Amino acid sequence: MIYDVVVVGGGPCGSTAAEDLARAGKKVALIDRAGRIKPCGGAIPPRLIQDFDIPDDQLVAKINTARMISPTQRHVDIPIEDGFVGMVDREHFDEFLRARAARSGADRHTGTFLRVERDEAGTRVVYRDKESREEVTLDTKLIIGADGARSGVARAEIPGGQEIPYVIAYHEIIEAPGKVGTYDPARCDVIYDGAISPDFYGWVFPHGKSASVGMGTGVDGVDLKKATADLRAASGLTDCDTIRREGAPIPLKPLDRWDNGRDVVVAGDAAGVVAPSSGEGIFYAMACGRAAATAAQATLSSGRAKDLKLARKMFLKKHGTVFKVLQSMQDAYYRSDERRERFVSLCHDVDVQKLTFEAYMNKELVKARPLAHLKIAVKNIAHITRLVPATTT
Ligand SMILES: Cc1cc2nc3c(=O)[nH]c(=O)nc-3n(C[C@H](O)[C@H](O)[C@H](O)COP(=O)(O)OP(=O)(O)OC[C@H]3O[C@@H](n4cnc5c(N)ncnc54)[C@H](O)[C@@H]3O)c2cc1C
Repeated sequence: MIYDVVVVGGGPCGSTAAEDLARAGKKVALIDRAGRIKPCGGAIPPRLIQDFDIPDDQLVAKINTARMISPTQRHVDIPIEDGFVGMVDREHFDEFLRARAARSGADRHTGTFLRVERDEAGTRVVYRDKESREEVTLDTKLIIGADGARSGVARAEIPGGQEIPYVIAYHEIIEAPGKVGTYDPARCDVIYDGAISPDFYGWVFPHGKSASVGMGTGVDGVDLKKATADLRAASGLTDCDTIRREGAPIPLKPLDRWDNGRDVVVAGDAAGVVAPSSGEGIFYAMACGRAAATAAQATLSSGRAKDLKLARKMFLKKHGTVFKVLQSMQDAYYRSDERRERFVSLCHDVDVQKLTFEAYMNKELVKARPLAHLKIAVKNIAHITRLVPATTT
């Protein structure tokens, strides 16, 4: 039996790709090593819930406010009008997606990807089965590498796949009480403070009965555990029981190439695709998985390996501009506490709130009133060039 596509990695990206391919009638295998819960804040926008048909029972919390906190502890509360940010628990969310792919017709394999082999007979994916510990070989026409940051498939097959830059994110899953200290189970807090993270941010994300408290940084020598303890203390969460402590890389830049020009395409974290500024990756991983599945189908029908390039092309056409805007925001405002102070000031602006929230919630760069765009651009320049004091609202 020769598979049309073997998908390596059953996170949001790989499960989406496998489900789309199975629904399209392709012979598809999904390999996941299982046994580890992906460290993740679990925040997902309404657009994801809609586009990927996520049932309400996967949402462990619905958030109605985002609080942005500055280095001097000023804060701006941004209400989420006409909707909410959903919170998922990755232990159950990822398994739900894998099981849904299997119900659609994908063959599930549980084990660890080892290598790709090729000879005149074709291409094979070799993995070590979790139960038997034996090596298993799957013959296939194409491979989708969706095995996350530090992807083995990208490292072995894709030019540049060895060198994806990343920040390390660390978080603690704690048992959350109801409202205590400044903690609010219906509000996400995002902390911009060089003492917590010199180049990224910290967060307190409620998950119903639990909460994720953590931060990310690409700077060596930062004490991630101390920063997280400080975040917990500032919210009044020090004494809550800790369920898990865990860290993982968040990639910082999409790879220049996602395919090997032959039979492999990578997607999601494996292709370096996480939104700059926010570190949001779940929606983009699923969108990438869908794009990779479409590119694989095009390649299977045309027989042209170059059609694998469609995955990156389609993804960047839809989301490339948002990534550029978010990258320039990160470059401009995550450099110093003075800039972070200015960033929180900018968030007071109702037009800024509307535009950024529309971009996050619905993944659209809306055409706001032209004057609003102009006003935001002027405020932005005024802050970056220090024409106004950092605390101007
Ligand atoms: C601490 C932290 C907090 C985050 N918070 C958020 C957030 O709140 N919202 C958000 O949108 N994003 C968040 N992200 C980013 C988000 O988690 C990722 O971008 C997203 O999970 C990427 O999905 P993926 O399917 O590409 O990769 P992954 O979710 O990493 O899935 C990869 C899969 O591949 C499997 N795998 C890996 N290697 C092998 C192998 N050798 N063999 C077989 N299987 C393998 C793994 O078991 C896993 O299931 C966060 C990241 C971190 C680290």
